[in-house]
Amino acid sequence: MVHTFDVLVAGAGPAGSSAARVLARAGLSVALLDRREFPRPKLCGGLLTWKTGQELERVFGPGVLEGVVDFETPRFEIRHWDQVLAAGAGPQPFRLVKRRVLDQRLLDLARDAGAQFFPGQAVTGCDPWQGELRTAQGGIFRGRFLIGADGAGSVLRSSLFPDKAAWRRNLAAALEIFLPPGALPDAPDFPRLYAGCARTGYGWVFPNSDGHVVGLCGLLRGDKDPGALFRKFLDFLGVPEKSRPALHGHPLPYGNWIARPFGGRLLLAGDAAGIVEPLLGEGIFYALSSGRLAAQAVLGEAKGGAVAGPAYAGALARNILPELRAANRLRWVLFGLLRWPGPRGLAGLLRLLQNPLAQAVHGLRSYGLLQPKRWD
Ligand SMILES: Cc1cc2nc3c(=O)[nH]c(=O)nc-3n(C[C@H](O)[C@H](O)[C@H](O)COP(=O)(O)OP(=O)(O)OC[C@H]3O[C@@H](n4cnc5c(N)ncnc54)[C@H](O)[C@@H]3O)c2cc1C
Repeated sequence: MVHTFDVLVAGAGPAGSSAARVLARAGLSVALLDRREFPRPKLCGGLLTWKTGQELERVFGPGVLEGVVDFETPRFEIRHWDQVLAAGAGPQPFRLVKRRVLDQRLLDLARDAGAQFFPGQAVTGCDPWQGELRTAQGGIFRGRFLIGADGAGSVLRSSLFPDKAAWRRNLAAALEIFLPPGALPDAPDFPRLYAGCARTGYGWVFPNSDGHVVGLCGLLRGDKDPGALFRKFLDFLGVPEKSRPALHGHPLPYGNWIARPFGGRLLLAGDAAGIVEPLLGEGIFYALSSGRLAAQAVLGEAKGGAVAGPAYAGALARNILPELRAANRLRWVLFGLLRWPGPRGLAGLLRLLQNPLAQAVHGLRSYGLLQPKRWD
């Protein structure tokens, strides 16, 4: 059986649900496909910055985070192993969520708006020019527009950008475990980042209501064995081997964004397009906002306006790409300082710029010269 819709959205993470909700609210027929049944787990620290909360409310409404936020604090700390480089409180609270819960809420709101959800449909084939998706379960879906929001391992991206070497050049591995209370000897009640445990990347310990998330990400071309780095990090934290759950990893786009992520009838959003901030690896905000921008471009063309792909690329170039480029430049400065003159050099810069940098993390300032920032 062939299913026909105005728009097919592949992937019901933040990028897909955001796009599906915007499109369905505007009256288009939307199929939202995911290979998983929901709720499903998603490896993620679940840390939300201020700008993420703003974007969530903009697309999903003011009550979107009610009952979803697990832990909240403005405090943070940055260490180089056990040396504290910076500590304090940011201008806004960090909010911590479980992705299983957040993503289910966003999916429910996309469905409330009218999107039709197809769980357990793993896309295996995409024809971006004909507007067709095929799934491993035998489904055939056709749409005037396709949105690829199927994450870092995107099948839809491969149909437009088959060069895997280019994609891997700035790909990180991210590993994470969840530890219950008592398993972590020094358990902070605020997010703590650890520099120095990956060449280009960092470790983290995030609290939530029932324990701690411990993770590490590192650019693969610098660190060939992220699993070994993570075990060393867990040894340093004093997590006994017998209380460690199995390690899980997931690819994290880390500077490999695609500047013009479209072709034929297909627009890519979120991790599928590599749209993740390349300093801290923050991706939820960028998935939500690129999903919305892709949907707005589709709506424009559907109403007789500009062609969606170039319109979307223009919106990314205005709103998002300058921020990714600035964060990328800053990352090389900060990780470079760690190598020379060393952690004290990084501590000096963080002390000098702590407040504007904390504002940049939340999106109140741009990473570009730390100027005040407005998001469209
Ligand atoms: C360990 C780790 C920690 C992180 N911590 C944070 C953090 O604290 N804060 C933050 O902002 N960001 C964090 N990120 C980044 C963030 O998780 C991602 O950037 C974000 O999830 C991207 O959203 P998305 O909707 O683009 O993709 P995803 O959330 O990956 O969603 C993609 C969806 O597509 C579905 N899918 C995949 N393939 C197919 C297919 N073939 N057919 C159909 N469906 C498919 C998947 O099941 C999934 O539901 C972290 C990432 C990792 C790996």
